[in-house]
Amino acid sequence: MRDSIQFAMTMFCIWVGYRFYLFYQWMIGNSDIAVSKPGAVEGFLPISALLSLKQLFTQGIFDEVHPAGLTIFIAVMVMSLIVRKGFCGYLCPVGFIHNLLNKIGRRIGKIVTVKGKIELGMLIPKYVALTFFLITVFFKMSGREVDAFIHSPYNFTAEARMMQFFTDMSSTAAIVVGAILILGIFIPYFWCRFLCPYGALLGIIAKASPVAIKRDEDKCIACGKCNKACPGGIEVDIKQTINSAECVGCTQCINACPVDGCLSVTDRLSRIKLPWYVIAAGSLLILLVYYAAAKFTNHWDSPYPLEMLRKYYMMM
Ligand code: SF4
Ligand code: SF4
Ligand code: SF4
Repeated sequence: MRDSIQFAMTMFCIWVGYRFYLFYQWMIGNSDIAVSKPGAVEGFLPISALLSLKQLFTQGIFDEVHPAGLTIFIAVMVMSLIVRKGFCGYLCPVGFIHNLLNKIGRRIGKIVTVKGKIELGMLIPKYVALTFFLITVFFKMSGREVDAFIHSPYNFTAEARMMQFFTDMSSTAAIVVGAILILGIFIPYFWCRFLCPYGALLGIIAKASPVAIKRDEDKCIACGKCNKACPGGIEVDIKQTINSAECVGCTQCINACPVDGCLSVTDRLSRIKLPWYVIAAGSLLILLVYYAAAKFTNHWDSPYPLEMLRKYYMMM
């Protein structure tokens, strides 16, 4: 089920990217076919959304440049708080790419297990990057600087710049992306586990989630199959409750466990066992509820005139 949801979400993201490409072509005059901008494309702008979040907290203003981006960002954080890193486990297309790369690595039998002090050392960069972004946005930038960035031509054209990064990739960027993908074959979820600051943020929030995987020590036969299946490199077989920031709630450990009921998704507050699909279903539901609420309250589409955006695209 996880593969299917990830595949569907990745196809959706490709469709969104294609629709945005058509929109951009129409906007810059390369096409006569008018296409509306898909708001979901703003979900790929988490740094812009972080600045918008500060604006929301400090000034009570909901970003009108990338309102869908802020909506998705808030939805994903709420998701992490309620049902762990379901976004990483099921919805993010980069997670799906790493899932596929991991399957290739397993198929060719060349998986490198990163453990102990080396793992700890490799986990540091994503937290350093996250700390840098949080300190810069929340402590170093003034409200005026945040406003100036949000209303800058750069931010207005951020999705188009992101698209150009992939469609017109520099050789340096191609080498870096290629290296990350190759490393993802041998080191499971290389980018997600060791480099992604977005995943680091969601992992920290998820530690407060009531939902977690629990292991019944009395039932465990210490076969270690859960460890091998875990994309987060977590030693599931020695923990009672898996509340690691690396747990994406994929439930692959439950799937791999040969003992019925040994591992389960549990509400840590009430200690009630939950259905194994609650993280996936909860994540999708929260995303849809936020989308519907944003659409209904006009917090999804930007009210700025298209002519203004066209002018910025032409400048770009
Ligand atoms: S860690 Fe980052 S790239 Fe990986 S699935 Fe999570 S958000 Fe996506
Ligand atoms: S502990 Fe289980 S649910 Fe969490 S990441 Fe590992 S396999 Fe997935
Ligand atoms: S797969 Fe199940 S039985 Fe085997 S070590 Fe993990 S929790 Fe214990």
